[in-house]
Amino acid sequence: MVCECLVELLHVFLEKTFTYLVPKELEDKIKVGMRVEVPFGKRNLEGFVMSISNDRRDDIDLKNIIRLVDDYPVLNKELLELGKYMRGVTLASLMSCYSAMLPKALKAKSSVNINKKFDKYVRLNKDVNLSLIKLNATQSIIISKFQDIDVIRKKDLTSISVSSVNTLINKGILLEEEREVFRYKLEKSEKKNFNLNKSQEEVFLKVKESINSFNVFLLHGVTGSGKTNVYMKLIEEVIKNGKVAIFLVPEISLTPQIINRFTSYFDRIAVLHSRLSDSEKYDEWRKINEGKVDIVIGARSAVFAPLNNVGIIIVDEEHSQSYKQENTPRYNAKDIAKQRCIYHNCPLVLGSATPTMESYSLALKGTYTLLELNNRYNGKDPVIQIIDMNKEFRKTNDYFSTTLIEEIKSTISKGEQVILFLNKRGYSSVVTCKNCGYVEKCPNCDISLTYHKSSNMLRCHYCGYAVRKEKYCKSCDEELKEYGLGTEKVEEALSELIPEAKIIRMDVDTTTGKNAHEKIIKSFHNKEYNILLGTQMIAKGLDFNDVTLVGVINADISLNFPDFRSSEVTFDLLNQVSGRSGRGSKEGKVLIQTFNPEHYAIKYSKDNDYKSFYNEEIKIRKKLGYPPFYYLCELKIISKDYDKASLFSTKIGNYLKSNLLNEIILGPSISNIFKMNNEYRFQIIIKYKNINDIRGYMLKLQERFYNDKNIRLEIDFNPIRL
Ligand code: ADP
Ligand code: ZN
Repeated sequence: MVCECLVELLHVFLEKTFTYLVPKELEDKIKVGMRVEVPFGKRNLEGFVMSISNDRRDDIDLKNIIRLVDDYPVLNKELLELGKYMRGVTLASLMSCYSAMLPKALKAKSSVNINKKFDKYVRLNKDVNLSLIKLNATQSIIISKFQDIDVIRKKDLTSISVSSVNTLINKGILLEEEREVFRYKLEKSEKKNFNLNKSQEEVFLKVKESINSFNVFLLHGVTGSGKTNVYMKLIEEVIKNGKVAIFLVPEISLTPQIINRFTSYFDRIAVLHSRLSDSEKYDEWRKINEGKVDIVIGARSAVFAPLNNVGIIIVDEEHSQSYKQENTPRYNAKDIAKQRCIYHNCPLVLGSATPTMESYSLALKGTYTLLELNNRYNGKDPVIQIIDMNKEFRKTNDYFSTTLIEEIKSTISKGEQVILFLNKRGYSSVVTCKNCGYVEKCPNCDISLTYHKSSNMLRCHYCGYAVRKEKYCKSCDEELKEYGLGTEKVEEALSELIPEAKIIRMDVDTTTGKNAHEKIIKSFHNKEYNILLGTQMIAKGLDFNDVTLVGVINADISLNFPDFRSSEVTFDLLNQVSGRSGRGSKEGKVLIQTFNPEHYAIKYSKDNDYKSFYNEEIKIRKKLGYPPFYYLCELKIISKDYDKASLFSTKIGNYLKSNLLNEIILGPSISNIFKMNNEYRFQIIIKYKNINDIRGYMLKLQERFYNDKNIRLEIDFNPIRL
């Protein structure tokens, strides 16, 4: 018997597999999808078994497999195929695609040693007739614990009496056994049932009709319309059919709040997200693999959950950019989800209050089935007011309009809460010298450093470079001034204006600890604070009954971002933030401060008018040839050597321009982040209609550069940002 193995090699783009002999004693055990250790040159490597066959060719000298790493396949047939699909759409190596599917503990050549955890349990020996045995009082108490339960953790009994438990074990009355324990514990919550309202029911029935066939649904439902409740009823339906559901959410909205909603309705749940430890992830993965759960809830990578019977995949907040992985393999979880639904012949549900231009246009075309929920479940739409900062009388350095300050004060005085949103962390954007215009920049990345007052440091938000802030300008000795604004600075200004307000800040700087996130949410929920001030981290998913005012301090930050999706992102953010107001029984209010009140992304936010926004935006996309009219592919040409980077990007550009005649080639140009980590970056953008027309050329370039010491080439299909 021989097998084909895929191993991790330095030249990662080789997709070649290698043939090994399977020793007789492993013939019964080896299965496709297992990891094996094999000799390779002078080293031993781990690899995946890709196929097994009986025909061995005697003419070649084959080496033996050294050992099986697993006693079961870590990649099933579907996932093995899915990896090949991923390779095709991302051009990442097959090995990196498989690695993306597995928790660290199960990746090939993993150096981490993560073990299963076991605990001791005891059960009553059924062959012993208890009525014939004399027990003392303590022993009787211990035995009585087994009245309605078969197995008890030993620790829970030894807390009564260690010696009595041991005596019972020694006498053979209690039997000891080891059981695996799963480290990640979901809090149990009280079960709550609910019924769908009429419009939710309609949506539910439409999906239910095709629960056993592949179909993509786009659920466009305003925030607070109860999309999650529809998802839960659909999942229940899937479970009734004996299948399993995958529920994907952006990492950022995978809060205890959303998990709690699921645990209060379902029992067998696995959760996968980045805040789990490696061993917890390993345990959750095995729980799923062993068929112990009905629902997998998770962020992007949960789309690879090792299931054999997927009945539905739901992608909540489908517009979220977090579904795209930004490093190799650069996959989009929505594409993977679609592929899996085709394989399992089941529905894919994409849900959002502000769908991507791509998804919505497919829904209008009829490729996706459009479903709508147009009203909030509690019937109360927040009142949204746009504040023109050009006209308003402003307090302290342009941050706050009088209207916003007055509204905050009156909200707090009623005992209600406020969420303030600012899409920028830190204290102030840039530190400049008013005299000579000197700006402190990162020496590695060539972008302005951001001032963090609490640590008195200037930090680079790309590479993490940090330096103490000096008082005087390096070039002319004048005093340095801070400009722009960040969460930290706004917090300071706000506490001067409203000293009685208790403010809590939530951004990457205040959420570095393991449970920092949860702690902030909990304390705000318990009303220890009046105002929650934060970055986009607070825009999504949070549900506080007493928040009746949401303020957007500067809607222009994301609007001015140099990217073709900046309007879409702004509309989405404003919509999400507005959704945090008035979720309970009280009316909600939203104040949006802007210098661009007439911009369509802001104007249509006032009435949450997605369709009007879409109609404006689609015209611009069409005129400029952006998605959904063209697909994009971004090439990055990166080198420590400026001249080489420049030379090769010109060469690649010319090569593409002379070969791709039906596509539009933009560039080469210097990247938005021109210098990062001491490397120079150029980019070329290809606008194309059909990936098959360009894939061959991309593969050729990839082959040419995969082992080049001077130039690194990154290829990104459907990048989320340019
Ligand atoms: P969305 O996900 O569309 O933003 P949610 O699912 O968070 O909306 O629903 C908003 C609020 O309405 C939540 O507090 C939710 O519990 C409540 N809700 C929605 N649908 C129902 C229902 N059918 N029964 C009871 N409560 C519901
Ligand atoms: Zn830097």
